[in-house]
Amino acid sequence: MLYVSWNCPSDMASAHHDRAQVDIYEKLPVPFGLVRFGVAPDHPEVKNVINTFTQTARSDRCSYYGNVAVGRDVTVRELQQAYHAVVLSYGAEDSRALGIPGENLAGVYSARAFVGWYNGLPENRHLKPDLSCETALVLGHGNVALDVARILLSPLDLLRKTDITASSLAALACSRVKRVWLVGRRGPLQVSFTNKELREMINLPGARPVLDPADFTGLANAVKDAPRPRKRLTELMIKTALEQPAQETAAAREWGLRFQRSPQEVLPTADGTRARGVRVALTLGGSGDSAQAVPTGEVEELEGGLVLSSIGYRSLPLDPAVPFDPRHGVIPNSSGRVRGAPGLYCSGWVKRGPTGVIMSTMNDSFDTAQAVLEDLQAGVLDVAASREGFGAVGSILRSRGVRPVSFSDWEKIDAAEVARGKAAGKPREKIVDPEEMLQLIGH
Ligand code: NAP
Repeated sequence: MLYVSWNCPSDMASAHHDRAQVDIYEKLPVPFGLVRFGVAPDHPEVKNVINTFTQTARSDRCSYYGNVAVGRDVTVRELQQAYHAVVLSYGAEDSRALGIPGENLAGVYSARAFVGWYNGLPENRHLKPDLSCETALVLGHGNVALDVARILLSPLDLLRKTDITASSLAALACSRVKRVWLVGRRGPLQVSFTNKELREMINLPGARPVLDPADFTGLANAVKDAPRPRKRLTELMIKTALEQPAQETAAAREWGLRFQRSPQEVLPTADGTRARGVRVALTLGGSGDSAQAVPTGEVEELEGGLVLSSIGYRSLPLDPAVPFDPRHGVIPNSSGRVRGAPGLYCSGWVKRGPTGVIMSTMNDSFDTAQAVLEDLQAGVLDVAASREGFGAVGSILRSRGVRPVSFSDWEKIDAAEVARGKAAGKPREKIVDPEEMLQLIGH
């Protein structure tokens, strides 16, 4: 969701990048995109990358302009006229659709919207998910699926000390959800969540894992020579399945993994008003990463009044002037250079799709920055004439009644959030209404 553009002074052709000027444009008043609105509130250590961003944004050669929606308030062409190079790094702000009947019933939410809701993403602040049922079905076997399952089942005392929004904490306090099934269309050898996240779920206080040992028959042998992360992950699932006590333990809540079940339809209640479960097609798979889920012809109904679709994120095109591959949800590019558009670059999930952790996205952005510098040195970027940068863009925005938010404005919002959180013993209480953010800084 972050927007980066570089303004290189005219004497840059032979000089180094230590003279580059970088302006960052962001749609929301506040920075940090997925780190603020996607990373789970109980994973504060993952948010440390905010410190690196802050250090960069405070540099004399970097400016932050929040509250500017590129594609709406200013076009990419206008940015290209104002800067020598423009890097699109706006991530994946939509979710993949299941494309099955019943997907739009009440009680069905995308995991992306649910995550946005508890993390204070302004567009999801009114979601009010219905948590009045006992069983939730999470469709997908990725880390986002584990995140939402963990938040649904976490003891409130753990969440209370995080930056989860007060309104979602209040809703979770009234939640009746006590059982979460994570449903995958393939088998245990193809789950895409990772070891650390699974272990955290297994160790969640007050919640009992329910894994069927029969799902893992012969798998210890099958992963003997698998890459280490897959081997460790499978061994952890097997160990958990085998260690389960035969009798139910005292845990008030439980969760489990259901494999080889491909969602076919979200089933409505008798009055047709909301979801009551999901019909799944049973599938067969193989042992490799690329094994396909092949339907056996058998189906099964899984009961659950809350259905969270966690099957991946999706980038959207933001300006007709920018090439976009709708099938893969990425900007077509070579090493971050947008195909057919010299001077235009991309980075992050919009460059390579919604996979990988923050570190992989950072490394990916370093590669794109390298491509910009190589093009600068090779003369692909025409820096003979200086460009006005924000001087030009600021006039365009003024003429359209758009008032950007500076980094020091954000620091005021940040201080207000931290102060509000302090009273409740939280690291911050996020402001979820952009209008309130703007009022706070006198816009
Ligand atoms: P993901 O890892 O790609 O997982 C998506 C899941 O949805 C897979 O199990 C996939 O199954 C399934 N799926 C896709 N299409 C489906 C369909 N039509 N029907 C049924 N199932 C379907 O995506 P994610 O969980 O959204 O995570 C995105 C990225 O963020 C990942 O790289 C993840 O590791 C990262 N992340 C990391 C953390 C962390 O480090 N703690 C937290 C959150 C997210 P198939 O494999 O069969 O396609």
